[in-house]
Amino acid sequence: MQVRLFNTFGREVQDFVPIEPDAVGMYTCGPTVYDYAHIGNMRTYIFEDILRRTLEYTGYKVRHVMNITDVGHLTGDEDDGEDKMLEGARRKGMSVWEIAAMYTNAFFNDTDRLHILRPHVACRATEHIEDMIDLIRRLEEKGYVYIANGNVFFDTGKFESYGKMALLDKQELRAGARIEVDTTKKHPADFALWFTNSKFEHQTMMWDSPWGRGYPGWHLECSAMSMKYLGEHFDIHCGGVDHIPVHHTNEIAQSEAATGKKWVNYWLHGEFLLMNQGKMAKSTGNFLTLQGLVDSGYDPEDFRYLCLGAHYRSQLNFSEDSMSSARSSRRNLIERLVRLREAGPPAPLEKLNTPAREYLDEFAVAIRDDLNMPKALSVLWNMMKDENLGGGEKLCAAFAMDRVFALDLERAAVRENTLDRSLAALIEKREEARRNRDYALADSLRNELAGHGVILEDTASGTRWRRES
Ligand code: AMP
Ligand code: ZN
Repeated sequence: MQVRLFNTFGREVQDFVPIEPDAVGMYTCGPTVYDYAHIGNMRTYIFEDILRRTLEYTGYKVRHVMNITDVGHLTGDEDDGEDKMLEGARRKGMSVWEIAAMYTNAFFNDTDRLHILRPHVACRATEHIEDMIDLIRRLEEKGYVYIANGNVFFDTGKFESYGKMALLDKQELRAGARIEVDTTKKHPADFALWFTNSKFEHQTMMWDSPWGRGYPGWHLECSAMSMKYLGEHFDIHCGGVDHIPVHHTNEIAQSEAATGKKWVNYWLHGEFLLMNQGKMAKSTGNFLTLQGLVDSGYDPEDFRYLCLGAHYRSQLNFSEDSMSSARSSRRNLIERLVRLREAGPPAPLEKLNTPAREYLDEFAVAIRDDLNMPKALSVLWNMMKDENLGGGEKLCAAFAMDRVFALDLERAAVRENTLDRSLAALIEKREEARRNRDYALADSLRNELAGHGVILEDTASGTRWRRES
């Protein structure tokens, strides 16, 4: 079955045809490890995870590479502002190497909690300085670089199709030159490949290079590392929409100028998570972290569920209401799965009956239609509510779909099904109180259990419990 994806390069939904028949090379821009990632960043990593899982569900073998930016990223994407790593180190009173290690760990801790698959290669910029220097050398040999004020710049005027993916207007770019403050560049769109004349006095991350001791510009790392691990021509490159006009535009320019051929076939970009009507961003202080959500009583999976409810190419408004409604829906789903699981195990996938299989087919059509996850979720809910389908079938199909949703449904259905010993002992004690007709004690035990989120229902066949939804 054909996967179709919206390619930013060309702005249309296209059939996905990988370079190799069954294998896919995929590069995603990773975090700058100077602070905690916020849930806006996490929305982008969830979208990329869904893309990878959809390709794997379809049968492709995906090789996923992601960079860890631990040098070179200034607060402005266009080589202006402060050095992010230095800013983070100063804020924490730690060395840049220490904060890089600390926030890299924090990043993977968050992505693990959101069931985002780890990349096959997670590569640090600081460990690939030689590769970056080699790439600048290639560009220099081909005449694409110039040195100004001690720094090495990419000459965008020499790259004919500069800005093609981003649909940048060359006239407009030139007009921008008039208000350009940095007079060292020939053109405002030109970008630094190597800084030697650092304006940052306390820069400790520096390396020798043919152009002097210094450090690489931010855009360079993604070109150098993606080509190292995926080859000079690969299938997919992703990021958030903010990367289209500068970061990805510059990545394309330097990669294709160096190799003289097409670099990436499909460009996918995730839309923003908004909060208080604005983009969720560190720079404005308008942001929340995953841990912040957990501290307010949400599970990481609630946030993943929230993201599944919106298409990746639509903006998503984060609010207390949207978050708590995602939590209720997810709990409702798990409650249903727990009840089915109590009644029996999932049916084997190979023996799934036709109606259940049809739901799975519908699910596959939705995810392959440019990752239509809202539609895929509605297929899951229709299936769960279908009274003509057996419990084992529902469990099996839901768990199969969860290979892409990644809400940890299989474990939740069982985990929520087992109470820890102290709560189970309270239920037994209440049973005993009821047998002894000590209704006051039985009621107080019922309230105690409710305080732990366990609701009791006395039925003709005995007392049943469920988690509060
Ligand atoms: P950064 O660490 O700033 O490079 O961001 C990491 C990823 O998160 C990039 O792919 C960004 O495009 C993306 N991103 C940043 N802010 C948001 C947001 N508010 N919503 C969704 N994605 C975002
Ligand atoms: Zn990148």
